Amino acid sequence: MGEAAGVRRAGSPEETGLDARRRRHRRRIVSSELALSAAFALAALHGLAERDELASVSVFVAGWALNLLVLALCCSLPWSRIPGRWVILVPLTDFVAIGLSRSAAGESIPSFGLLAAFPVVWIAASRVRTGTAVAVAAVASLAMVWLPLALAAESLTFDALIDQILLPVMLAGLAWFVSEISDDNRRRQEALRASQAALRESMEVGRARERLLGTVLDTVSVGLLAVDADGHDVLMNAGQHVAHAAAAPPGNDDPNEAELLIFGADRLTPVPPDERPVARAIRGEDLDAEQIWVGTGRSQRAFSISSHAMHDDDGTFAGTVVSFTDVTELLLALQAKDDFLSNVSHEFRTPLTTILGYLELTLERRQDLPGDVADQLDVARRNAVRLERLVEDLLAINAGSFRVDPVPADVGRVLAEATSSSRVRASRAGLRLVNRAPSSLPAVVDPVRLGQAVDNLLTNAVKYNRPGGSITLDAHRSEKGLVIEVEDTGIGIESEDLHQIFDRFFRSPSVRTSAVPGVGLGLLITRTIVGEHRGSISVTSERGKGTCFTILIPQPAPAPDGQ
Ligand code: ADP
Repeated sequence: MGEAAGVRRAGSPEETGLDARRRRHRRRIVSSELALSAAFALAALHGLAERDELASVSVFVAGWALNLLVLALCCSLPWSRIPGRWVILVPLTDFVAIGLSRSAAGESIPSFGLLAAFPVVWIAASRVRTGTAVAVAAVASLAMVWLPLALAAESLTFDALIDQILLPVMLAGLAWFVSEISDDNRRRQEALRASQAALRESMEVGRARERLLGTVLDTVSVGLLAVDADGHDVLMNAGQHVAHAAAAPPGNDDPNEAELLIFGADRLTPVPPDERPVARAIRGEDLDAEQIWVGTGRSQRAFSISSHAMHDDDGTFAGTVVSFTDVTELLLALQAKDDFLSNVSHEFRTPLTTILGYLELTLERRQDLPGDVADQLDVARRNAVRLERLVEDLLAINAGSFRVDPVPADVGRVLAEATSSSRVRASRAGLRLVNRAPSSLPAVVDPVRLGQAVDNLLTNAVKYNRPGGSITLDAHRSEKGLVIEVEDTGIGIESEDLHQIFDRFFRSPSVRTSAVPGVGLGLLITRTIVGEHRGSISVTSERGKGTCFTILIPQPAPAPDGQ
């Protein structure tokens, strides 16, 4: 069975705190009364020394005895069970005790009057309001000084009453003063307690957040490292410990940064310490999915590293957060896919070459064939050529480069040939294809590869167009080099897809669901060919309006004599 709600466990912190408060409360009552009793005893002894007959004055003795009785009660009563407001009875009874002894001792022992300051201070320092404290002090002390006069009726004169007024006035003033100071003190203490409670609460919230953050950081599989502006690690989660351990040389559990085994994309070339992603992130660089390999041999792992610099309110660099994502499986899977594509392409190439060879041989004897058979063989040959080209592209892409051989050539002719081979397809699709390039445009390029690149762009401009649309091919020489533009009025490309269209096998989602054929290699091949010419290709597009690709190939400066 579970413990009943609200039952305090022995030794629990709240019990200890409550007991301590009770003990303090009791100690305050006893020590206050003890102080008065000590002073009372001194005053009484002084009185007895001055007037030894006081020992036989019953009122005097009764006052002292009452004080001692109150002291005894203070020491023995269970204060924790008595409501706090009853405590005021103690100083009030003290007034009576002092009043009795003072009335017997008379003016000759003035210290008895001063004893009244004790209960006055007690009342004023308790939680009663200043007005109440002053009123109680005034009434009690007036009673103390006037009652004896009233009891001895012969001395009750107006002058006698006025003579005695000084002490009550002083005691009322003291009550006011002490009450104000106590109030002020209490307010300060309450404010202090409130701010301590707020501090405790915010520390507790902070600790809870820290625990949550720690758990989240250790739960995610991504390694995270936070570094301050001086490059010191301020946070490293469990994932990052794993990444760090993977980079440690065998047998070295605590390597320094320079000793870590970090390699580039080829898995072999070490990355110099100051060019490593973490070093660059610490210098304030923001990294976006940089790839490195760590460790060696079969345990080598690949990490994709990103970082984001932190800045103070005034923009000063305050450190950086670096994330490490283990992409080993992904890269190995991509590698396996490339190997598979490459192997399959090789296996396709030989039978395809044979098929094409025999088709071409057969079509050379077209006149011997019935008309419809020749047409069917033409279709077979066209598709076999397409397949052969795809296989060649896959092999070239897998090899990572297209060998280009730039020579002085007439780009005007290259573009005219590319236009004429696309014209049939364009007109079949109901498109207008215009070649605005000059018929002769000398430049240093690989004419075959450039023709292939332009052909890819024209093919796309036809494929991703709409009936009635147009395609414009243009070219010129500028200060920067040879510029070729292929513009269409087709379906356009979504802006969020633009940065991916040159990626391997990328096809925009709308195209993927359409019947337009393609495998997503044409633009990659085009960009690779342009890149091999040390050129660049850019694209602008608007969804539903059209697309424009621009190729720029730098050209050698013309000879000084213009030849
Ligand atoms: P493929 O045409 O075989 O799909 P590409 O690499 O040539 O592959 O093109 C990649 C993707 O870029 C295409 O699938 C298409 O979504 C988009 N794209 C290329 N050219 C155009 C264009 N002229 N108009 C609209 N989208 C295009």
